[in-house]
Amino acid sequence: MAVIEEYVDIVEPATESVISTIPRAGMAETDAAVAAAKAAYPAWSSVAPGERAGLLRRVSGLIEERGEELALLEARNVGKPISDARGEVGMVIDTFAYYAGAPERLMGQTIPVPGGMNFTFRESMGVVALITPWNFPLAIASWAVAPALAAGNTVVLKPAELTPLTAMQLQQIVLDAGVPEGVFNVVVGPGNVVGERLVEHPDVSKVSFTGSTEVGKRISARASETFKRVTLELGGKSANIVFADADLEKAAEAAPSSVFGNSGQDCCARSRVLVERSAVDRFVELFSQSMQEFRVGDPLDSSTQMGPLITARDRDRVASFLEGATVIARGTAPDGPGFWFAPAIVLPGSNNDRVVREEIFGPIVSIIPFDNEDEAVMIANDTIYGLSGSVWTENGSRALRVARAIEAGTLSVNSNWSVRVNTPYGGFKQSGIGRTLGPNALNYYTELKNVYVATN
Ligand code: NAD
Repeated sequence: MAVIEEYVDIVEPATESVISTIPRAGMAETDAAVAAAKAAYPAWSSVAPGERAGLLRRVSGLIEERGEELALLEARNVGKPISDARGEVGMVIDTFAYYAGAPERLMGQTIPVPGGMNFTFRESMGVVALITPWNFPLAIASWAVAPALAAGNTVVLKPAELTPLTAMQLQQIVLDAGVPEGVFNVVVGPGNVVGERLVEHPDVSKVSFTGSTEVGKRISARASETFKRVTLELGGKSANIVFADADLEKAAEAAPSSVFGNSGQDCCARSRVLVERSAVDRFVELFSQSMQEFRVGDPLDSSTQMGPLITARDRDRVASFLEGATVIARGTAPDGPGFWFAPAIVLPGSNNDRVVREEIFGPIVSIIPFDNEDEAVMIANDTIYGLSGSVWTENGSRALRVARAIEAGTLSVNSNWSVRVNTPYGGFKQSGIGRTLGPNALNYYTELKNVYVATN
């Protein structure tokens, strides 16, 4: 078994200073959290739907009241621009408000059958374990916590050890809103101890995991031993496809945020830009210009658009993608302290290059020329991933054709924006199983029951 330190230092990536030191949980704390969630489940799942809705609305309201404090904490802990952190907190407020509408709308069907009728019910599952990554800590936690609680489950959340501060605040907010103790529990500890225990625990009914494809595979295998329900939101290698007939200025202006946003540490990062050959020179010129204008620096400055990477190790890992690569444009970044990395545009030698095939999770983008629509689709789909992507063209029929042909769960046309509270989000292929957000998410936090009533 892994050796557990007693405390974990929380580091600010922009300054490398320790901003907090918190206790590190192990097996015993994990088991205690699951026991608390199990004990709280019968009462919570029986709370009248209207009352549960009111409590979730109160959570949303309290997050709004403490929004600036949460955004500041997130910006410092992740190193993300404060303006992005404010936007994410806004989404968290909306997520709790949206799923506050769910408890009173969880309904089944009535199905007439010979000799009687069938009723279906959406039943809560029990204790749900949520395991989240470090890149959008509060937002991703809320995408799972809100529908799980709305459906009447109790929850144990294990945030990433690098960025647990806002999840810890969320636990207090949920209590302050009046949700009973034990309904929502947060355990901060290592993935190979706390995470593994949650996945194998006999009293956990479902695991919702957001993180790397590698860890997702392990969780999927372990969870199958007890047939736990599993939702997986994993990695990506998304394509931004730019046709020559697109509004190139608009596409190039949007491109930096689609791949350098959150310092490229975004599962939806469009790290492959496929450009129709006749437009490559003009697009690269425009993209390079907008990259130079992308403001990299102090995350707490409201005008900043990109901060540092999360750790020194990640900075070195990301830098390794530039070894031997043809860099055609490079942005700037502060010298340090802080885990800074200047954004880069590269021209790969072939579609088999590591920079094209692997998720980089840093601000590096490849330009890949194509000659026709079929080739663009073929290159876009030539990946194990299928999370996200964009199509840029002024030809409406082509936009729809290509969007339908791309093997990915969350696409946009003439925009890089496709993640919204009220629409489904998730991946094809090795980018995941199940969907987050939108009305469908509730299906993943409930079991479908069918009851036959004989009438003759
Ligand atoms: P990660 O897989 O290393 O860790 C994610 C979480 O899993 C952390 O809380 C970690 O402690 C825990 N964990 C690690 N090993 C575990 C184990 N053996 N059993 C159980 N839990 C374990 O990912 P990360 O580095 O935190 O985040 C980056 C990855 O997350 C990227 O691949 C990114 O694409 C992905 N991601 C996906 C989405 C999405 O919605 N599809 C969103 C954000 C991030």
